[in-house]
Amino acid sequence: LTTGLESAWNKLRGTDQLTKDNIAEPMRDIRRALLEADVSLPVVRSFIESVTEKAVGTDVIRGVKPEQQLVKVVNDELVQLMGGEVSDLVFAKTAPTVILLAGLQGVGKTTVCAKLAYYLKKMGKSCMLIAADVYRPAAIDQLTILGKQVGVPVYSEGTEAKPSQIAKNGIKEAKSKKTDVIIVDTAGRLQVDKAMMSELKEVKRAVNPTEVLLVVDAMTGQEAASLVSTFNVEIGITGAILTKLDGDSRGGAALSIKEVSGKPIKFVGRGERMEDLEPFYPDRMAQRILGMGDVLSFVEKAQEVMRQEDAEELQKKILSAKFNFNDFLKQTQAIAQMGSFSRIIGMIPGMNKVTPAQIREAEKNLKFMESMINVMTPEERERPELLAESRERRIRVAKESGKNERQVSQLVAQLFRMRAQMQKMMGAMQGQDTPDMEG
Ligand code: GDP
Ligand code: MG
Repeated sequence: LTTGLESAWNKLRGTDQLTKDNIAEPMRDIRRALLEADVSLPVVRSFIESVTEKAVGTDVIRGVKPEQQLVKVVNDELVQLMGGEVSDLVFAKTAPTVILLAGLQGVGKTTVCAKLAYYLKKMGKSCMLIAADVYRPAAIDQLTILGKQVGVPVYSEGTEAKPSQIAKNGIKEAKSKKTDVIIVDTAGRLQVDKAMMSELKEVKRAVNPTEVLLVVDAMTGQEAASLVSTFNVEIGITGAILTKLDGDSRGGAALSIKEVSGKPIKFVGRGERMEDLEPFYPDRMAQRILGMGDVLSFVEKAQEVMRQEDAEELQKKILSAKFNFNDFLKQTQAIAQMGSFSRIIGMIPGMNKVTPAQIREAEKNLKFMESMINVMTPEERERPELLAESRERRIRVAKESGKNERQVSQLVAQLFRMRAQMQKMMGAMQGQDTPDMEG
């Protein structure tokens, strides 16, 4: 999608006014790109129509390039199509808030249960998960394990009881513990069928949920929108969660859901880890689709993590050859805090081609190095020379971090290599800045 739209913009360059004629070709490209991204045909049609109408109707503002003008119109339309604003989770006026999750099999419901609990816990809410998928014992185990991982209790009764009864009992238990939010995991089927719908209806009646969220897999493309509609008609939902946006999935699902079903996307899943769930931002998604990358959120996140002064201080350190393990850690932690590597790389325009395997590798390396630095003493972090000079210290670090001596030596060597490289780089940059007077 990104490449298609980029070429459409390129075609517009060099013109100074938007007319029906000169936007016709970029519009055809946009249409094709959207269809390729699996946006449903009726949605594409009405989108192209309204964008064309708006673009042709306006004068090109002085000082604004025609393609910028068209970008703005297309961007605004995309944002509107996806619901305009962020659609926040609704909490019950009197606790507990009950969130019921529904969806087909394998879309990520059980994972979302735990991710959502993790997200809400960070907001300071207490949560409980209820295992109402009784068809496979493995489903209950999976939820129990994930619950443990995020530190949230899981209520279950095995596979004998009825889902609606389990849910009811679970809520009683949660109320007695004064839980803020209860998330109910349900069973999915491979396809929409009567049995699933009537079971969901029954569970819904039993728990009286504040939110009924349909979990959909982004890979389903235009199917996603009609699924959301079907579930909405059958059981009544309050929104959707779009998962697996990290894979090869195309953005089409995000574009059609609100338009076709009238229900907003509330969250998106971008990976298998617990922190890989975030609110759905229509404006950022639009920018991403437009091929600018998610520059805005990248810059914001980067700023949050590493303030300007920190960066300057780090630069000074590098110049004065004092780059140590604390700086090393600060850098790697800054990167880790910015979210997963994959997300960041996806946000940088023109950098979508890194494979998930490569990303996992890089993350593993970072964790590996961090575990060794974590057991170093403050002096060792401050003065890596201590480790370079003392085998005893290296052996201690290895032992305490569960690594071997060679791995510690390699880490120390790497730090010195980085230091040398940085000095070389800084030297070269300074050489460029200063005119060569002596020569
Ligand atoms: P359920 O059948 O709907 O409960 O689906 P699960 O929660 O068991 O998830 C099915 C598989 O999809 C698991 O292997 C999850 O780790 C994986 N999964 C869930 N969400 C995401 C996501 O956002 N990205 C990726 N890459 N995988 C996901
Ligand atoms: Mg499940």
